[in-house]
Amino acid sequence: MFVRHCADARYVWNLGLEQRSFWRRGMSSVSVYDQKRSLTDARQHTWLGDGSSVVQQQALFDLDRAFKNWWRNPSHFSRPTWRKAGIHEGFAIRDLSIRRINRKWGEVLVPKCGWVRFRVTRQWADICAGTSARVTLDRAGRWHVSFTAPPPAFKRQPTGAVVGLDMGIAATVTTSDGEYRRMPDHLTPGEVQRKRRLERKLARQKKGSKRREQTKRQIAGLSAREADRRKDWIEKTTTDLVREYDVICIEDLKVKNMVHTARGTVASPGKNVRQKAGLNRSISSQAWALLRKRLCDKAAAATDPDGSPSPVAVVAVPPAYTSQRCSACGHTTQENRESQAAFLCRACGHADNADVNAAINIRAAGLAVAGRGGTPVVVGPVKRQPPGLAAA
Ligand SMILES: [Zn+2]
Repeated sequence: MFVRHCADARYVWNLGLEQRSFWRRGMSSVSVYDQKRSLTDARQHTWLGDGSSVVQQQALFDLDRAFKNWWRNPSHFSRPTWRKAGIHEGFAIRDLSIRRINRKWGEVLVPKCGWVRFRVTRQWADICAGTSARVTLDRAGRWHVSFTAPPPAFKRQPTGAVVGLDMGIAATVTTSDGEYRRMPDHLTPGEVQRKRRLERKLARQKKGSKRREQTKRQIAGLSAREADRRKDWIEKTTTDLVREYDVICIEDLKVKNMVHTARGTVASPGKNVRQKAGLNRSISSQAWALLRKRLCDKAAAATDPDGSPSPVAVVAVPPAYTSQRCSACGHTTQENRESQAAFLCRACGHADNADVNAAINIRAAGLAVAGRGGTPVVVGPVKRQPPGLAAA
């Protein structure tokens, strides 16, 4: 039934998406309520009628939410896209009912399935605060349920400290205080070896065979472990940063572009293709995007020790020349960059680690943004004009 729910949710989402792009080409627009009526119609005449109407309706509301997010903040959210089988497997539950069985296990009421057990991995109070839930299937074949709840308050002492962050291509975060944090190699040497062995095995196995599917699943299991560790690192790093600093300045990087342009085209291959191809593999663009998102989430939820809201400011600054400018005298030239790692100013002789120099520039640029105008700081990404007619 879960698989069926996933398929239904995906089908309805994609249909709704198609309907919206169709209407956009015509002059009129379609609302989520029009779509809901079409769904009721379709349920009477097609196989959709056998599925859960709650799950199918929720897919339309999810789609609507995705569009609204994108219109509101196009630099943070991208345009809703097609959901693909095997990749986007999941469905949402509204009108949540949950109950606890014991310390380790709880149950959630799923439409057409009844009570389904889940392993409790969060504070029960946080789960109870949930207003809706999402059930997903990851590529390793594990089912997860996650509960949407208001973000828990992040209690911290004000420190008065300001920091600039340079997010480097060597999978590092460098602070303007000269501290490095490196995203760990996600698989141990033994696991890498095992993955290679499985991949060789996969190549030999017959397509469509049961054993091949099993090997595929084992490989996916290793990839999932890798992703879990990356997420864990991101959580710890963002928690530390929000705890230590009152103002956090980051580059307003288009992470997607950074990774895409590295590939270049066949006619004009991008510079450093090899190096950046490695970047694509080792840190996916999603990792940086997630780091940034979690930083903004926690910063916005920060409170004083007594519980009164006192958000940490995250300032996004334009990334121009941060790696070429001297943080001591301001001299800006490409030659300042001695190598990937070393910075040496041609004007004043200031020498520093290139990433630390960049982080100090980002901090200065952030403070300049903060000092300008009435609203001193921006939480979250810098706002841009909504696409509006330009997208039509
Ligand atoms: Zn200088």
